[in-house]
Amino acid sequence: MTDLRMYFSQRIEEMLDLLRRLVELESPSTDKAATDRIGRFVAQVARQAGGNVTRVPQERWGDHVLVRLGEGKGGFLLLCHLDTVWPVGTLAERPWRVEGDKAFGPGCLDDKASAVVVLAALQGLADLGLAPNRPVTALFNSDEEVGSRSSRPLIEAEAGGAGVVFCVEPATPDGSLKVWRKGTARYVVTALGKAAHAGADHDKGINAIAELAHQVLLLQGMTDYGLGTTVSVGWVRGGTRTNIVPDRAEARVDVRVRTVAEGHRMVAAFDGLRPAVPGARLTVEGGLSRPPMEESPITLEPFRRAQEIAAPLGLTLAAVGSGGASDGNFTAAMGMPTLDGLGAVGDGAHSIGEYVLVPSLAERAALMAALLSRW
Ligand SMILES: [Zn+2]
Repeated sequence: MTDLRMYFSQRIEEMLDLLRRLVELESPSTDKAATDRIGRFVAQVARQAGGNVTRVPQERWGDHVLVRLGEGKGGFLLLCHLDTVWPVGTLAERPWRVEGDKAFGPGCLDDKASAVVVLAALQGLADLGLAPNRPVTALFNSDEEVGSRSSRPLIEAEAGGAGVVFCVEPATPDGSLKVWRKGTARYVVTALGKAAHAGADHDKGINAIAELAHQVLLLQGMTDYGLGTTVSVGWVRGGTRTNIVPDRAEARVDVRVRTVAEGHRMVAAFDGLRPAVPGARLTVEGGLSRPPMEESPITLEPFRRAQEIAAPLGLTLAAVGSGGASDGNFTAAMGMPTLDGLGAVGDGAHSIGEYVLVPSLAERAALMAALLSRW
C-alpha cells in the first residue's frame, strides 16, 4: 500500500469521528442557525489543518465558508455543501450508527462525508509536509440542496480564477466519478378559469382543473428517455370546494436534460404551452435553474488525469453520469474543467437508507491528497 493510503487508513477512526460530529450537527438548508453552527465547526477544523478561513455572511441562508491554502490564480477549487435535505429532529428518529463497514445518519453521504474527505486531505498534506502544488480554495456552501441561489455567484467568481474544479459530491455505490450531469429546470404552470356554481351555473364556469389536467398529460408526454429528457409533474393543487367550478389550479414541474441544446428545446416547449379548454388561460413561470454538465473534454480530461494519479495508489476510477445536478453544473457550464463525484462512496442520498462505506473515507482522502499534491 502506498504511503498516502497507509496514512489515511490509519486515521479511519478519526475520520469516522469527524463524520459523526458533522452528522450530529443537523443542518437543513432552510435553518440558518443550524447551518451557521456547522459552518463554525468546519471553519475551526479547517483552521487546525492550516487553512485560511473566511466566512461569507448571508442573511437568509447559512454563511458560506471559504478555506484557502496559498494564493493566486489557476488553483484548485473544491466544492462541497454543508446543508442537507433533512429537518432538525431527523437525527432523533434515525441516530448516527455504524454497522459493519457502513455508517448511517441524515446527510452522512450527501454531503458530510465529502467535508470529511476534504478536511482530512488538508490535514494529511500538512502532517506529511506535502504542499499542494497549486493554491487551494475549498468552498463549503449552505444552500446546495435548494439550488445554491445565494452561493452561485460565489461559486462562479471562485471558479473564474481557478484552474480546475473538484466537486466533492458523493460517488456512486461502485465508486464511479461523474463526467456528466443533467441540467434542471423547474416550472410552475397555473391554469386560470372562471368560478361558477357547480350545479346551477355549470355551463358558465371554466374549469381550471380540467385545463390543468390537459397540461399535466401533455407535460408528462414530453419525457424522452432516448434523449435523456424527463418531465415530472411533482405537485398539483386546485379548486376550493366541490360545489364550485374551480377558477385556479397549479402544477409544479421538474425537467431534466442532458444537453444545453435540449434545455433550449424544452424551454421553448414550455413557452409554447397553450390552453386546451375554451376560455381558460395559462401562466408559465420558471426556467433552467442548473445548466447541464455535458460529457465533453471539460469533464473527460480532468477525469483521465485523475485516473493517472489514482492508479499508483491502487485505486481504479470509473466514470458515469447522473440525473441529479450539483454545483459542478455551474462551473462546467462556464467552461471550467470540472471533476465531480469525488466524495465518499455510499448509496441512498436523500433517502432514509443513506449510508457511507467507511473504508472509502480513507481511500477518497488519499485520492484527494494525491490530486492536490500531484496534479
Ligand atoms: Zn449533495
